[in-house]
Amino acid sequence: MRRLINGILNLIYPERARCSLCKDELISWEIQLGICHQCLNEMNFFAGKGLKKLPELFEQHIDLVGSAVLYTGLIKELIYRLKYYGERQLIYPMVELMVRQYYIIFKEEKWDGLIPVPLHESRLHERGYNQALLLAVGLSFYLKIPCFDWVERVKETHPQNQLTLDQRRKNLEGAFRLKKGIEIKGGRWLIIDDIFTTGNTTNEIAKILKEAGAEKVGVYTLASGRMM
Ligand SMILES: [Zn+2]
Repeated sequence: MRRLINGILNLIYPERARCSLCKDELISWEIQLGICHQCLNEMNFFAGKGLKKLPELFEQHIDLVGSAVLYTGLIKELIYRLKYYGERQLIYPMVELMVRQYYIIFKEEKWDGLIPVPLHESRLHERGYNQALLLAVGLSFYLKIPCFDWVERVKETHPQNQLTLDQRRKNLEGAFRLKKGIEIKGGRWLIIDDIFTTGNTTNEIAKILKEAGAEKVGVYTLASGRMM
C-alpha cells in the first residue's frame, strides 16, 4: 500500500520529491530546495565577498565578487547537467542556493539591477537557453531586484580554459556590447553567471558598464573555482 502511494506521489511530483543529485526521496524543507541534506552537507558554502584585486586581470573593472559555493564535486555535476544535458529544471535548486547565500554575502549592498552574462546567438540556438539569464530571472523574483538583459555577445569566443592569460584577454576584446538604445548613466549593477574562474569574462562586461557610466559593478555567481 505504501509503495502504491509513493508510486502515485512520484507520478504527481516527479521533480520535487527526489534529490536532483542523488535521487533520494526528499523530506519537508528539502522539497523546496530540491536537494537532500546529505548532498547539501557536501557543498562548500562561501560566507564572504572579496577579491579587491584579481591576480589574472590586467585592468580590473569589477568592484566586488561573491559566489554561493565552491566549484567542486556535486555543484560541478549540477552545472554540467544544466549546460550540456538540457536539464533546465536544475535552475530551481541553483536559484535557491544563490538566494540563501545572497543575504549572507551581500547583506549591506544595494543593487539597481541584475545583468546576466549573455550567450552568443549561435550558442543560444544550440543550447536553447542561457543559464545565466535563467539564474538572473530566478534571483530577480526572490530578491526583488529587476533583471536587465542589456548586454549582448557579438563575438563568438573560444572556451577560455584552453587559453593563456594573454590569449584570454584578446579572445574577449570586443566580445560584448550594450544592446541598442540602452543607457546606463550611473547606478549599481550586479552581473550574474553560473561559474567564476579567472573573472576575464565578467570583467569585460564590467568594463562596458563602467564606460557607459555605471557607478559600481559587482559579480555574483553560483560557483567559484577559488575560495572567497
Ligand atoms: Zn541528495
